[in-house]
Amino acid sequence: MSNSVEQQESYDVVIIGGGVSGAAIAANLARYDLRVALLEKSADFGFGVSKANSGIIHAGFHHNLSALKSKLEIQGNLMFDSLCHQLDFPFRRCGIVVAAFTDEEMVIVNELYNQGVENGSPGIELCSHERMLMLEPKLNNDVVGGLFAPAGGVIEPYLYVFSLIEFAQRNGVETFTEFKVSTASRQENIWHITSSDERMMQTRYVINAAGLYADHVSEIFNGEKFEIIPRKGEEYLLDRASKAYPERVIFPVPTPNSKGTLVIPTVEGTTMIGPTAQEVDEKDDDTTTAENMKNIFVLAANMVSGISRRDIITAFSGSRPTLPGNDFMIKISETTPALIQVAGIQSPGLTASPAIGEYVKDLLKISGLTMIEKKSISRTNQKTVKVRFATRAKLKELIKKNPAYGNIICRCENISEAEIVEAVHKGHTTLDGVKFYTRSGMGRCQGGFCAGKVIEIINQETGIPVEQITKRGKGSWLIVERLNEL
Ligand SMILES: Cc1cc2nc3c(=O)[nH]c(=O)nc-3n(C[C@H](O)[C@H](O)[C@H](O)COP(=O)(O)OP(=O)(O)OC[C@H]3O[C@@H](n4cnc5c(N)ncnc54)[C@H](O)[C@@H]3O)c2cc1C
Repeated sequence: MSNSVEQQESYDVVIIGGGVSGAAIAANLARYDLRVALLEKSADFGFGVSKANSGIIHAGFHHNLSALKSKLEIQGNLMFDSLCHQLDFPFRRCGIVVAAFTDEEMVIVNELYNQGVENGSPGIELCSHERMLMLEPKLNNDVVGGLFAPAGGVIEPYLYVFSLIEFAQRNGVETFTEFKVSTASRQENIWHITSSDERMMQTRYVINAAGLYADHVSEIFNGEKFEIIPRKGEEYLLDRASKAYPERVIFPVPTPNSKGTLVIPTVEGTTMIGPTAQEVDEKDDDTTTAENMKNIFVLAANMVSGISRRDIITAFSGSRPTLPGNDFMIKISETTPALIQVAGIQSPGLTASPAIGEYVKDLLKISGLTMIEKKSISRTNQKTVKVRFATRAKLKELIKKNPAYGNIICRCENISEAEIVEAVHKGHTTLDGVKFYTRSGMGRCQGGFCAGKVIEIINQETGIPVEQITKRGKGSWLIVERLNEL
């Protein structure tokens, strides 16, 4: 995934962090005549918080417009139709319902509705018991009433990040993985950045979009002192055969700290329930617990009765990078020249990301960077072929052109060899990178059948020895020794 920095390259803008914020900023800056680099410490993009979330495009009614996150949420939401068309990632505006089960909860729903109207959430409506059941027949019959926000939707977060990166790369942004920024110094108005393995580059402007580590990166640049507090969320993914799959994203009435436990129809046809919201000490704590699973199931089953624990195929967790005050901090640094802080990007960071890209571009202009639009750019990503959605006739045609479309590697999700080869050719050379790009290993058997075959394909296409192929980068080795060498 990475280019190598042969000598000390020089950029106009360096973005630190290849999650959804950094990727959206890179895609935005790709439209301008600038030399831009995106640096990511992991083996692939989106491997931070951006891979472990609920995948919801929020509809702009949860927060008051006085918060920056709320303004960017609604702006970001409205950008998703054209982005999806332009960048080719799965997105469905299925709508969101908030279900109230008591009259007291209905009072809060009324407040959310008024907030949504004020924020400009398109088509938001207050609903009776009957209307709620009509909008979402899977809801428990005890629902008193609720709210419907048709602008809400779902995406696959990692594919969205990959498509932003692809767009940025097609339009000249240079991207580097396994580049962990460790030191920085400033001489004659230029930043000199060094990675942990001593690669170096220079830049006029720096954007700190380092998610959970934005506080560390700020320290490296002598920027503002702040502490990112990780707030962990556990999620449970159910089999696609689950009877619980709803039409719309179902929210409970929120608490002051969290939007609550949701039942989510993923854009790929599976059901997800979660997340929890718990402050933790370790930024990289990605554990899940039996106790939280039990709690999530009780809460989700209160809203949708068809939920069964037997349907769980996997669990994961991610931590929201929060700041005291619970808002985003996106600003020109007040302490350090030519540094823009993009910190505290907790939920709704995914939804807000396209608007974050615009906002940061404007901050760069205010900082004095001359931005001239390129005369021509490549406006759309290439459409990807997905065997699981192909008609019989289309499949026949594909196999005729390339027999690898007929070799199914992931049987649960129906992913062909050709799709895995394409992922590898696009630079996804870890098992998780291929999984996030193709869905191989995301089904019922969780890679039990296909992981070995995917490793073989990565080896064939890249020449990386199988012992060096990892799940998600250094340290996550998959194969210790080859059997035939024992
Ligand atoms: C459980 C959960 C559910 C959520 N659900 C939703 C939702 O449904 N909808 C929604 O809108 N939002 C949701 N969010 C929020 C959303 O996921 C985040 O706001 C968003 O992913 C943050 O993206 P980011 O790019 O700022 O951070 P990240 O994705 O963490 O990216 C930061 C990147 O910086 C890299 N990095 C760190 N330090 C360095 C360094 N020194 N050098 C180089 N690179 C570095 C990291 O490796 C990382 O990849 C959820 C979050 C969680 C945890």
